[in-house]
Amino acid sequence: MAQQEDVFKKIVSHAKEYGFVFQSSEIYDGLAAVYDYGQNGVELKNNIKRYWWDAMTLLNENIVGIDSAIFMHPTIWKASGHVDAFNDPLIDNRDSKKRYRADVLIEEELAKFDAKIEKEIAKARKRFGDAFDEQQFRTTNARVIEIAEKRDALHARFAKAMNDNNLEELRQIIIDQEIVCPISGTRNWTDVRQFNLMFRTEMGSTADGSMTVYLRPETAQGIFVNYLNVQKTGRMRIPFGIAQIGKAFRNEIVARQFIFRMREFEQMEMQFFVRPGSELQWFQKWKETRLRWHKALGLGDAKYRFHDHDKLAHYANAATDIEFEMPFGFKEVEGIHSRTNFDLSQHEKFSGKKIQYFDPELNESYTPYVIETSIGVDRMFLSVLCSSYEEQALENGETRVVLHLPAPLAPTKCAVMPLVRKDGLPEKAREIVNDLKFDFATHYDEKDSIGKRYRRQDAIGTPFCITVDHQTLEDNTVTLRERDSMQQSRVNIADLHKLIHDRVSINSLLRKLS
Ligand code: ATP
Repeated sequence: MAQQEDVFKKIVSHAKEYGFVFQSSEIYDGLAAVYDYGQNGVELKNNIKRYWWDAMTLLNENIVGIDSAIFMHPTIWKASGHVDAFNDPLIDNRDSKKRYRADVLIEEELAKFDAKIEKEIAKARKRFGDAFDEQQFRTTNARVIEIAEKRDALHARFAKAMNDNNLEELRQIIIDQEIVCPISGTRNWTDVRQFNLMFRTEMGSTADGSMTVYLRPETAQGIFVNYLNVQKTGRMRIPFGIAQIGKAFRNEIVARQFIFRMREFEQMEMQFFVRPGSELQWFQKWKETRLRWHKALGLGDAKYRFHDHDKLAHYANAATDIEFEMPFGFKEVEGIHSRTNFDLSQHEKFSGKKIQYFDPELNESYTPYVIETSIGVDRMFLSVLCSSYEEQALENGETRVVLHLPAPLAPTKCAVMPLVRKDGLPEKAREIVNDLKFDFATHYDEKDSIGKRYRRQDAIGTPFCITVDHQTLEDNTVTLRERDSMQQSRVNIADLHKLIHDRVSINSLLRKLS
């Protein structure tokens, strides 16, 4: 674990050193849990968004996009339940004065039981070798059974407390489990309190009477309140979806782990409107579709798992998370929720406007049910960055830091380098850049030795380097170096476009999905 934490620290400093992510307002010592994306980060982020947007709107003829405003009428948040129920349970340690989410403290305790079980299994696997049967061991080993029973009991108690919104019981669980503050090491805990995560601000000058408005904590409500506009103007027929990418804001209690939990972040959400009664089938379909989208990136299938929710949000009748294995454990990257007709019904009630769909096949009107897929751009960015980072020992004894980014997401697709800065090689290299730049993010680099230039591109994940040498002037061939294998091949300038395109286009990813 300590080793994993080291790796994570290195990834965070790499992200800064190479212009991916900076702390916000850094020259003023930063602003907690707010980050800026640098020259490479913004490109990677835009590519992630493009991959999502195209997978939604190009591959599905019944999904369209919108871009709604961040400010919305405050009654929307009353109707959606966010004013009354968008809370996290917080608890303070009186000695360290540090604040925690009570539910997260208990979840970390549960993870410790899982880690103990995994340790027993690893030990047994070593002892029994090939003959080891994990399933049998899990169900028969006394120690594993004992730990699992304790875990399940804690889990059941925790789930009940969360579902009942029982804050005293949450505190009691923390006391009974003897959970200590990681900073002070003590169990001197305050009561558990609810904390609303929405940021508020004022709209309008105070002279005319201002109105309290909220910074949206999710983009979804902008879709719900535009449901009728899009359905009518786009002549959409159920089932259909509306997709949106945009900023969301949450006053998170504990902001840790870099861009994993931010106070200003970006979401990519899609609300899919279906016939009542068909929602669980669509829920299943979207679970599979979304997992396929993730896996097509090739970051490793074993790094994903589903985690079904114990506590369903006030609006949901089924919910699961897609979790990704970060250096600090499996963590939620995307949520898939069956939101019933809760939101549309609430907006119908609060606005007094009829929000219904007339189904010509059934010849009846109803309030559509909704399946939501909701993914954080920043968490997706973090998962891509963490799984791509490698410090590689080379045969010649050197090490190189390489980002094995999926090529279609890489900020720069190819770098063109003259071997030396004379004899007409820079001019020839510029010619190539001037041709490729219309289709690919292309760098020109002539400074330092060729080896150093390759390392710089490896560190930002550029899939291809193209080197122009004296032979190029004679026969129009260049050296094409591939990032991961470091293999070099001699290719014709005329063939470059196709070779690069086949590997780096978002299109190549999308084709894996259909
Ligand atoms: P968590 O349990 O981690 O607080 P959540 O279940 O509240 O997350 P959702 O409301 O389902 O999250 O939001 C959908 C997605 O938005 C999440 O899967 C995540 O990728 C992203 N997200 C939510 N909160 C944050 C945050 N504070 N910073 C970055 N991304 C976030």
